[in-house]
Amino acid sequence: MIIITVAPTGSGPMWKETPYLPITPEQIAEETVKAYEAGAAVAHIHVRNPKTKEPYPDVKLYREVIERIREKCDIIIQLTTGGGGPYGISLEQRMCALELNPEFASLNVATMTFGNGIFLNPPEAVEKIAKVMLERNIKPEVECYDVGHINLALQLFEKGLLKEPLRFGLVLGVKGGIPATPENLMHMVSALPQNCRCRWGVIAIGGKVQFKLLTLGMILGGDVRVGMEDNIYLAKGVLAKSNAELVAKVVRIAKELGMEIATPSEARKLLELPQKP
Ligand code: ZN
Repeated sequence: MIIITVAPTGSGPMWKETPYLPITPEQIAEETVKAYEAGAAVAHIHVRNPKTKEPYPDVKLYREVIERIREKCDIIIQLTTGGGGPYGISLEQRMCALELNPEFASLNVATMTFGNGIFLNPPEAVEKIAKVMLERNIKPEVECYDVGHINLALQLFEKGLLKEPLRFGLVLGVKGGIPATPENLMHMVSALPQNCRCRWGVIAIGGKVQFKLLTLGMILGGDVRVGMEDNIYLAKGVLAKSNAELVAKVVRIAKELGMEIATPSEARKLLELPQKP
């Protein structure tokens, strides 16, 4: 069974390239609900300053998005703790999302060049974030932008800061991370730990590669993420008019491959989320 995550907005400057990117809490929630109706079980949420459109992790904005989504559906909400890191947002500000006790949150484990910026995730800060998540029963998704990041996650597991089943997001195609090729995806999957239970998903950046690598990921037994955070194109030269269109496309591919799509409640069981919804 495949878990589809939608990442409706992200932190990057995609608003310069597409008029369809959701910016305000109302728009982000509306896009998420439509993506849920199209088949997404998880929503990976960033928030933006409605005036500047730039990433702006803020408890009030997150709360509004969550409340608006919850009025309409039970999609699993995964808040980012990386959001805006490569664009100069401090680690402290990035962590504010955890105050809201989401069921699920992203965890970045490595410092790296990310596009034209530097994504700072010093080891002691990563441990601190992992500890807060553990104490608050928030399930982390460890975002791995290269093969070595999987080992950093394993170190956290060995220290008792991550619990089984570990959840990995294998991210390919960030400038500064592992390039998005089929060989690299297979290599990352083969590098996943054998000594503990884990579940993984593919995140592939850019219109040229996204649906190809997501298809390969599904064949290899992984989950998938779509959405304008990762790719704004539905096909070559055709902008997606909504995140739901991107979800619908991956649902079509999954069904052609004979795969079942998890509902949010099925995904909660598969991911073993520690909180009650
Ligand atoms: Zn993100």
